[in-house]
Amino acid sequence: MNARSAAGKRLRTLPLRGQIFMTFALFILLMLALLWLFQTVLLKPMYESVRRQELRRVASVLTRCADSDGLQEEADRLALHTNICISVYEISGQYASRRAQSHILAGCLIHNVSSETMMNRLYAGASRESFYTERIRDSVLAGEDAEAEVPESLLAACLAHTDAGRTLLIVLDAEIEPVGSTTDTLRVQLGIVTGILILLAALLAVLLSGRIARPVVQMSREAEKLAVGSYDVHFEESGSRETAQLGEALNYAAGELAQLDSMQKELIANISHDLRTPLTMISGYSEVMRDIPGEMTPENMQIIIDETERLTALVNDILDLSRLSGGNRTLSCETICLTDTVRSTLDRYAKLRTHDGYTITFTCDRDAYIYADKSKILQVLYNLVNNAINYTGEDKTVTIRQICADGNCRIEVTDTGEGIPPEQLSKIWDRYYKVKNYYKRAVTGTGLGLSIVKSILLLHGAQFGVTSEVGHGSTFWFSLPEVPPPEKTEQPQR
Ligand code: ADP
Repeated sequence: MNARSAAGKRLRTLPLRGQIFMTFALFILLMLALLWLFQTVLLKPMYESVRRQELRRVASVLTRCADSDGLQEEADRLALHTNICISVYEISGQYASRRAQSHILAGCLIHNVSSETMMNRLYAGASRESFYTERIRDSVLAGEDAEAEVPESLLAACLAHTDAGRTLLIVLDAEIEPVGSTTDTLRVQLGIVTGILILLAALLAVLLSGRIARPVVQMSREAEKLAVGSYDVHFEESGSRETAQLGEALNYAAGELAQLDSMQKELIANISHDLRTPLTMISGYSEVMRDIPGEMTPENMQIIIDETERLTALVNDILDLSRLSGGNRTLSCETICLTDTVRSTLDRYAKLRTHDGYTITFTCDRDAYIYADKSKILQVLYNLVNNAINYTGEDKTVTIRQICADGNCRIEVTDTGEGIPPEQLSKIWDRYYKVKNYYKRAVTGTGLGLSIVKSILLLHGAQFGVTSEVGHGSTFWFSLPEVPPPEKTEQPQR
């Protein structure tokens, strides 16, 4: 993606703060819409359903106390309490006589216009249905003024049979429109609540979105700095748990990157230094041999050859590592004699033993075979033995042991040097790593050897490790499964 399209995309997508704000605002709008729906459109139907239930309850209470003397008292109490007009008739044959009544509503239909037709209609309804109801808006009460506000009423009638064998007709009247002033008050309140909610929502959305987005915005700013190679960054570990964890992980990654960067710089300095020393020697000795007669000696030639070998080894190390970490991970494995491989590695150091007084011992009880890439195992052994020689103590002793047990063959390389502090043990396998403040830094290594060893052993699926005691020395080891020796009959054919 090029820079321009990335910038375009960034513009098109809403920033995190905006997205949180929008989501929050939408949620609040939805809540307000719901509130308005209930307070306006659904208010009347819900009120009607509540009143219906109240009518049923009043009818059943009246039926229960129909035989008692307190019927009128109960009717008054209920009417007052529920704002329902009540008439109770006793039916005997064709006649109906009023047993109780309570008149509470000014525009009540059953008391103001109790025409016979209406009573007959209610009686017929009650005979048909156990609880008969009808909605009615009385135009008689409204009079000539058709515009006048007459509340809609719900008339209810039911026939009740008492324990004493009486038949009662209970007629009830309840207004089913919420009182105008109440609904008006509700509407005004709703308007005020809506205003307050919108203000609060906007404030909360700004605050919340800022709180959530701030750490992310800060992190992205720091990450941009990191991307251009500035490691002096700090990611905030605040906000939600996830952003705090992200900040922690990024701080760790930035720390590691900074360490890697400084190691790489140190490596380049080391390599430049290591390359320059043998090159200076080679050019110096070559010039001397060219210009001064009699200096063309085998000793001087040997110095040039030794320095060339040092150069080659260094360049090989760098190449090996870049191959191993660059995806070139093919091994050409075969059954090899590990014991012989160790012996041939140690042969390289024969000169060191005789000239420099090193004691390099190798102990093994038998020849052991493994399935591995011989050249790579040689590299491992060479690096481990080389380190042991470089870092061993004054007694110049290095011990190599071969231990075969439980189907595995283990090689241990032990020196008597200063050892490695425990906190650095796990890091020495890292590329470019060198133990800090090593008291005797006569050895100028590249910090690549153990990283090459680790890559090779991991490719082989080998187990490996190091134990070290400061002041007493270190033991580096690796272990691979032992395999049977190859068939001897193959040898004559070659
Ligand atoms: P180098 O080329 O610096 O030896 P290595 O990767 O082989 O690089 O080793 C990494 C670091 O581990 C070394 O710089 C050294 O500090 C430490 N180290 C390796 N082997 C030994 C050892 N046998 N004794 C003490 N320190 C060791």
